[in-house]
Amino acid sequence: MTTEQRTFMQVARAFLDREVIPRRMEWDRRESVDRGVIAALGELGFFGITFPQEYGGSGGDNVMYAIAMEELGRADSSVRGIVSVSSGLAGKIILAFGTHEQKQQWLPGICAGTTLACFGLTEPDYGSDPGSLATTAVRDGSDYLLTGQKMFITNASWSQVCVVFARTGGPGPKGISAFLVPLDAPGVRTREIHGKLGLRGQVTSEIYLQDVRVPAEAMLGEEGQGFSIAMYSLDKGRVSVGAGCVGIMAGCLEESVRYAQERTQFGRPLAAFQLVQSMIADISTETDVARMLVWRAADLIDRGEPFGTEASKAKLYASEAAVRAANQSVQVFGGYGYVDEYPAQKYLRDARVMTLYEGTSQIQRLLIGRAETGVSAFLSPGA
Ligand SMILES: Cc1cc2nc3c(=O)[nH]c(=O)nc-3n(C[C@H](O)[C@H](O)[C@H](O)COP(=O)(O)OP(=O)(O)OC[C@H]3O[C@@H](n4cnc5c(N)ncnc54)[C@H](O)[C@@H]3O)c2cc1C
Repeated sequence: MTTEQRTFMQVARAFLDREVIPRRMEWDRRESVDRGVIAALGELGFFGITFPQEYGGSGGDNVMYAIAMEELGRADSSVRGIVSVSSGLAGKIILAFGTHEQKQQWLPGICAGTTLACFGLTEPDYGSDPGSLATTAVRDGSDYLLTGQKMFITNASWSQVCVVFARTGGPGPKGISAFLVPLDAPGVRTREIHGKLGLRGQVTSEIYLQDVRVPAEAMLGEEGQGFSIAMYSLDKGRVSVGAGCVGIMAGCLEESVRYAQERTQFGRPLAAFQLVQSMIADISTETDVARMLVWRAADLIDRGEPFGTEASKAKLYASEAAVRAANQSVQVFGGYGYVDEYPAQKYLRDARVMTLYEGTSQIQRLLIGRAETGVSAFLSPGA
């Protein structure tokens, strides 16, 4: 870690220890984080880390971004998700593919955290196979009319803008384009999904689009480029999810060690029992492995080298290891790990989704397998 990265980590951790960790269970129970904290994270620069200063970013590198995501994941994955979807998934697409006007319109607000953005790829019938998505965008004079439904969209009900992927051409990935759709446009409706296992503090919604009119200038990138744009974004997003998982694991380690030192049974602290130490040793070792995989992928991005397979490996390993770590942490806490007075069960519930979204573990294995063998197991043409 460089001095700058270490300083950022210390400032971030001090803020999150003070403002997020003491309140995360309350937010989890009421299914909503405090919006004031999101605004404060914007002021502290969490949303703009890898963005140029001209848009209000700090021009930091991707390792710095991974450190920020780890700290957010250690504190509360719901908060991490709000930041990483808005600035990481949606914002980075606008930076990479947006026109001058699109960047001017959306990036300053996204970097400041005053505008939230979301990423609308998944549909009710197309999750792992987004290349087949059914939402349509039909040309109407100088506009497009978008109609369809998006599913499980993080931030949607809180966002001002969504990157919507819709079909402008024939079947398959090459018929998909991306659009910047203001969520207050006539014809847009969102519906919050409640009762999630984890990530309860962040809003996840369905988006309904009925003849939503956007000007042709709202298209992001070229017509037919939408699928590549989505994959570009998800590759980077996987590093962010992986980093968030490292944060979950670091939190599990810290809390498990503290509890094992404080709690006594048989007249000795739990930490003195070798079988308890064994669980803690596994969490500690897997945390280090996951962090190294995440940082390798982040460093490759910073060097401008190919990183997609490394991002998949980081996400695959870190997400599955986070579930193992959180499960072990519940075990270290015993019965107290099963109730929400202690953080172990929240880490486990939050970790569980990490193997599902931004490409399930099976999809990561297919991507890694394709890179290793040169043979695609995907059925979608061109996926
Ligand atoms: C809390 C939450 C937040 C989310 N946020 C967003 C968001 O912001 N934007 C967005 O666009 N999406 C979002 N998603 C959607 C998420 O990315 C999808 O749920 C995910 O891609 C899986 O799709 P699915 O749920 O339709 O499962 P399916 O694709 O139906 O998969 C079900 C099972 O089948 C397996 N499977 C599918 N295809 C194959 C195959 N070819 N080979 C082997 N196994 C296969 C999967 O691995 C999985 O185990 C979110 C989901 C959740 C739960």
